[in-house]
Amino acid sequence: MNSTAQTAMVMELYSELFTPYPFVNEKYGHAQFGWGGGMEHQTMSFMGRFDFEIIAHELAHQWFGNMVTLNSWKDIWLNEGFATYLSGLSYEHLFNGYYWPFWKSQNISYVTSEPDGSVYVNDTSSVSRIFSPRLSYSKGALLLHMLRWVCGDVAFFSACRNYLNDVDLKYSFAGTSDLISHLESESGKDLTEFLNDWYYGQGFPSYQVRCYQMASNDYKVEISQTQSDPSVSFFEMPVPVRFYGAEGDTTITFNHNSNYQVFYIYTDFEIESVEFDPDQWLISASNLDTLIRKYDEAVIYPNPAYDFLRIPLQQNNLIDIVMIDSYGKEIEIRYSVQGAGITVDLRNLTSGMYFISINTGTKVEKFKFVKG
Ligand SMILES: [Zn+2]
Repeated sequence: MNSTAQTAMVMELYSELFTPYPFVNEKYGHAQFGWGGGMEHQTMSFMGRFDFEIIAHELAHQWFGNMVTLNSWKDIWLNEGFATYLSGLSYEHLFNGYYWPFWKSQNISYVTSEPDGSVYVNDTSSVSRIFSPRLSYSKGALLLHMLRWVCGDVAFFSACRNYLNDVDLKYSFAGTSDLISHLESESGKDLTEFLNDWYYGQGFPSYQVRCYQMASNDYKVEISQTQSDPSVSFFEMPVPVRFYGAEGDTTITFNHNSNYQVFYIYTDFEIESVEFDPDQWLISASNLDTLIRKYDEAVIYPNPAYDFLRIPLQQNNLIDIVMIDSYGKEIEIRYSVQGAGITVDLRNLTSGMYFISINTGTKVEKFKFVKG
């Protein structure tokens, strides 16, 4: 089979990223068998077919599963999450990275296709739960991807190497706490809360990122989240957001620790659009990213106005509108909502200066105009 020739380059990749192939004296082979998938017998994977992803997955088990074996079915993700993630890493590093974004989006969609379920196996009497493709394979793989995001590439990969070469674990057994302690010592981070949310906890967040323009290059970014399952009250995560302008873009990571948390940013260009998690680091779904531009006096027209005044709004979310005259006296306002803005009827007003304030729920905007 042509595809088996790809085994060598994947083996070289894993040897570079992690540690040399652990059974080098015994070599490595494939045996064809009549099942659908594969089975990672030490040094000789049984293969139902020779897809690239199965080749990469079963080979990965020689490190994660055979060199270091799980010590409880509760921690099956240490085998299957790693093997699934390493097939993703093959896509990141090989074929010019072409398949890597698709691998991430497919796994994120699959994990978030149901609102609940933990990576931690709470029922080890159920074979279908232990080998849940969605939770033990895909969510386990994305848990590693997020640990890499939280700890950083250098700490993540060196912690994985230390885990594989730990004299207590190498050619022996390991649990989740062994991997986590290596990650904590390499990154200097306390991962207790992360594990509570993402390993023991169920579900995932949906993010709402609202970027408000305060002045041309000054912005307020408000980030909130809802959770798909009540077992987690809040997912504390570094949240990446990319801001695009006509001349370029910039990506900023916000440490999201509370709901409706507000951050102020200053860019060296005017933002034209906002993209939540552009490189797909987080397990999340149904996210919203919105740019709310500043409305200034120039956008109301005509000014002076005669019969009608038009106030365009970015979004049709008007909550309240108040008009006062130059003496501060409130004037009854007649208006209609048309499209995403409002049209004010001025025909009953006497000539002079007026002020209108509009509450769109996110901010209050004040406009001045002259009735001619
Ligand atoms: Zn496997």
